[in-house]
Amino acid sequence: MSKVLYEKDIQKEVLLEKKVAVVGYGSQGHAHAQNLRESGYDVVVGLRPGKSQQKAEEDGFTVKPVAEAVSESDVVMVLLPDELQPYIYQESIKPNLQAGNAIAFAHGFNVHFSQVVPPSDVDVFLVAPKGPGHLVRRTYEDGGGVPALYGVLQDVTGNAKELALAYSQGIGSARAGVLETTFQEETETDLFGEQAVLCGGLTSLVKAGFETLTEAGYQPEVAYFECLHEMKLIVDLMYEGGLENMRHSISDTAQWGDFVSGSRIVDAQTKERMKEVLGEVQSGEFAKGWILENQANRPKFNAVNARENQHPIEQVGRELRELMPFVKKPIQQKQKDVK
Ligand code: NAD
Ligand code: MG
Ligand code: MG
Ligand code: MG
Ligand code: MG
Ligand code: MG
Repeated sequence: MSKVLYEKDIQKEVLLEKKVAVVGYGSQGHAHAQNLRESGYDVVVGLRPGKSQQKAEEDGFTVKPVAEAVSESDVVMVLLPDELQPYIYQESIKPNLQAGNAIAFAHGFNVHFSQVVPPSDVDVFLVAPKGPGHLVRRTYEDGGGVPALYGVLQDVTGNAKELALAYSQGIGSARAGVLETTFQEETETDLFGEQAVLCGGLTSLVKAGFETLTEAGYQPEVAYFECLHEMKLIVDLMYEGGLENMRHSISDTAQWGDFVSGSRIVDAQTKERMKEVLGEVQSGEFAKGWILENQANRPKFNAVNARENQHPIEQVGRELRELMPFVKKPIQQKQKDVK
């Protein structure tokens, strides 16, 4: 078993002496900046003028242009959209890093796939929370945290690991557990997980179930509740106590159905295709496609996104959620405000 570290294992001092620039104030940025500040660290937010800047100022932060925030800080956490990081890095971050500073990331993509190549005289580390930014904030406010992976690529000061750990503590992750990784492992597992299981796998499973029921003539509202709405309730039980806890709570009929049908839906062939997806992540094929897609102004991303938003499950879902105001958590609203 790997060693999972908690607050008691971490020294805060090494980061308390430093100024941290949180660059970007979106999903992760607003959470890191606010959690770090409440944990006692000195934070400046780096942004261009716009909505995020207004929001960060309303939240009481000193907000500076990225170049200035970087040059006056010792530790720079890059929380910009992955596809923009290489440009902003070249223009505003790299020229303002001083020897002995640290640059940090919440996802290893750009460094691992050589889109950002930090200079050799700075520490380079990763603190990747394993959860959406809005939960990094919400769980912190509730006294908890989202687990994180940390990793060190370059250690010029001899303190890079301690810095990464103190940073993890600052955002609340050490309350949940932090685990050592490498940029390679974090990047490959994160991309695989979101594609095969968490995002791509899940949305495709939900849609296929909804389509199967509605094509067989069942009411879309019933199919929505069955295949999408109830998903959260089931996943909450898994989150709290694993598969066993979920199976304990469902009926034995549901559990028997799980046993006899689940492995026919996600079968050995599905797993073969998961291996294909993992192979494309490992070879850089996926990264290359995403980088080129952005350079071409996202023709496919935009076309698929527009089509997906019109899927019948989305149409019926919008209507049903209007009548269930309690399910609309601030997260969606906040996300809109921040972006
Ligand atoms: P985001 O899109 O929510 O926020 C990006 C921020 O960058 C916004 O505040 C935006 O105003 C700012 N920005 C955009 N262009 C800018 C520019 N030219 N100059 C200055 N600021 C600019 O991004 P995010 O989802 O928080 O992702 C940030 C990083 O965190 C990424 O590396 C991502 O992979 C990683 N990450 C995200 C999540 C998540 O929950 N969203 C989870 C784990 C890791
Ligand atoms: Mg600096
Ligand atoms: Mg992830
Ligand atoms: Mg990711
Ligand atoms: Mg049921
Ligand atoms: Mg049961």
